[in-house]
Amino acid sequence: MQGLSLIAPAKINLYLEIIGARDDGYHELAMVMQSIDLADQIDIRANGTEHINVQCDNLAVPDDKTNLAYRAAELMKNTFPEDFTKFGGVDIKIHKHIPIAAGLAGGSTNAAAVLVGIDLLWKLGLTKIEIEELGATLGSDIPFCVAGGTAIATGRGEQLAEILGLDNIYIVLGKHRSLSVSTPWAYKTYRATYGDTYPQDKHSLEARASAVHSAPMIKAIVHKNAVEISQQLHNDLEKVVLPEFPKVLELRQAFAQAGALGTMMSGSGPSVFGICESFEHAETVKQQVRSLIPDEDLELFTTQTISQGIHLK
Ligand code: ATP
Repeated sequence: MQGLSLIAPAKINLYLEIIGARDDGYHELAMVMQSIDLADQIDIRANGTEHINVQCDNLAVPDDKTNLAYRAAELMKNTFPEDFTKFGGVDIKIHKHIPIAAGLAGGSTNAAAVLVGIDLLWKLGLTKIEIEELGATLGSDIPFCVAGGTAIATGRGEQLAEILGLDNIYIVLGKHRSLSVSTPWAYKTYRATYGDTYPQDKHSLEARASAVHSAPMIKAIVHKNAVEISQQLHNDLEKVVLPEFPKVLELRQAFAQAGALGTMMSGSGPSVFGICESFEHAETVKQQVRSLIPDEDLELFTTQTISQGIHLK
């Protein structure tokens, strides 16, 4: 096999609760993650050299060693040096459709695709769990991106429990092209503002982590009920991002006014999504949001939930 093409879906957070601070500097989280069919395409080809090359059709994405796709290939090279010697380096082409720095795990899903792709290219035969474990060393969202579908993510987001797939829920997604929110900034600000409410010792952190409030959301997902899901949306990071970014707040309000069943910021933002009951409803919501915010900087997508992570094109 010389090369292959993979589809790398974005994710949204249906639920994001910050439990407290961990000893390793990360936050203890309780999230419900969901794959959507807004996706990048990743082409991986053996190049017969000793080099890893990354190219992206969006010039805002770095094409050097800081690209998460590059780091994923480097991780495979270092973990399986004999296979790297046997098969050689890779050319990675990223066809970007997922907005960048949007809270949609764009970089993480690209890295997940490279791990899955190189496993196939080098015929390593790794299990999904082994690929997820490798991914966790690069970034907390990568294991979920490998698995995809619908999952409860705990720890720093890397510990997954899959929930029954939630296909075909229509979502409208909005993001201002020129706006980005730094994920480290959002968590740092949350800690500075709410840190005194965190459990103070490891024992009470664990106790609070096991008493998370996502159970009604999980029930709504099992019922596949878009109205119920909409009522249970939650994202603690909104508390720090909305006051600081008025455009995100405005977008959030526009989705509510446009009649979305429910609306929430995804991850650390700035993308905001609205849940809809059908494709037609999604199109109406999209038009309404567009007329409430007639700003060309705002991109709007109609997408839907899927029960797949990284998969072959
Ligand atoms: P998350 O939801 O995991 O916090 P995000 O969707 O907010 O991620 P990304 O799209 O992953 O954010 O981009 C964050 C930064 O990572 C970008 O500003 C970009 O410079 C860098 N980056 C590195 N590799 C990639 C990649 N393959 N695709 C997009 N951005 C990348």
